[in-house]
Amino acid sequence: MEPGQLYQKSLSYLKKLCEEIPERCVGSEGNRMATRFFEKEISSFGWDTEMQEFDAIDWEDGGAILRSDDERFEVFVSPYSLGCAVEAQLVSASSVQELTQPEMSAKILFLYGEIAKEQLMPKNFVFYNPEEHQQIISILEKGRPKAIICATGRNAALAGGVYPFPLIEDGDFDIPSVYMTEDEGRRLLPYVGKTVELQSISKRIPGKGYNVVARKGKHLGERIVITAHIDAKKGTPGAIDNATGVVVLLLLGELLNNYEGDRLIEMVAFNGEDYYAVPGQMLYLFKNQDRFNEILLNINIDGAGYKEGKSAFSFYGLPEEIEKNANDVLCKFNGITEGVQWSQGDHSIFTQNGLPAIAVSSEWFTENIDSQEITHTPKDNIEIVDCQKVVEIAEALNILVRK
Ligand SMILES: [Zn+2]
Repeated sequence: MEPGQLYQKSLSYLKKLCEEIPERCVGSEGNRMATRFFEKEISSFGWDTEMQEFDAIDWEDGGAILRSDDERFEVFVSPYSLGCAVEAQLVSASSVQELTQPEMSAKILFLYGEIAKEQLMPKNFVFYNPEEHQQIISILEKGRPKAIICATGRNAALAGGVYPFPLIEDGDFDIPSVYMTEDEGRRLLPYVGKTVELQSISKRIPGKGYNVVARKGKHLGERIVITAHIDAKKGTPGAIDNATGVVVLLLLGELLNNYEGDRLIEMVAFNGEDYYAVPGQMLYLFKNQDRFNEILLNINIDGAGYKEGKSAFSFYGLPEEIEKNANDVLCKFNGITEGVQWSQGDHSIFTQNGLPAIAVSSEWFTENIDSQEITHTPKDNIEIVDCQKVVEIAEALNILVRK
């Protein structure tokens, strides 16, 4: 295929995923449209496909109002929270220590400062879940406040480029919650001990989601697993995070349409990297629990194709021969370089199981992971993508996989 054709294709795939499909958050109809689209395209290139189904809730945000006798405060509904209409005394805590003090049952609890510095991991999230987070969640569930108000700052590494960020984002946690900026929080602080009223309109909608697994080559045991998450955060077109990853899989699917090698190639459009319960990843782990040792290598694409800087391939525990092959391939492409290691991606599922992996991203993204303000926001749209880089990555992976 001509390079110009690949460029046109990547652009049209990107438009489909980021503009024609309204949103790709797990549980939504848009998410199901995206997985159906991926399945149809990849099977047209001669790949065997499997749709792995799981339950997932979508979420409808109707807004929230917080007021006292004489003031109104700007608050946002925590994603996937239950709604509420409550009036109660406000109590507060700024540390785990303080959280054990107030009698919070039948009160509205205000969390601010130290305790609200980073997003709490969802209670059923197994890959990374600090003890302190689990302790906070457990105190809250035992204390049973009527609702929780969180004042948060910026934390790009864990919450993407959003301010304020939702301290709680967990469809398995059933105490209604809202969040606000640190500045609003400072205005609210004098109202601790007084009565406030919180109304939050929020709805959980049960639905389904799918991983799409596509396979090619001889089914002889050893396999190379190439992954990219197809879901996006609610409220973002998710161009860099991670439509470009999915586009790389589709281009690569076409470039490999005549592949007949001995090793099975498995491509997975993972569904859930940006969703509280990571359901697609959990399902994949479950389905592969006895077969992980068959995996020779994982290549995961996330955050690729940013318009500035080079594409970055980072290596995790690669056997010498694979690392040499990878470096040989990188040398052939001007726009690709070896990048720094990072852990907030699906390659971690494989590295945590002791498997070698390559993470494909943008230099810009991995170097600014703690400070960037683009991912998980509306700014993550087609405008910031360079499709030439997306094509280059697919071409490099085509050579690497065939080696
Ligand atoms: Zn991502």
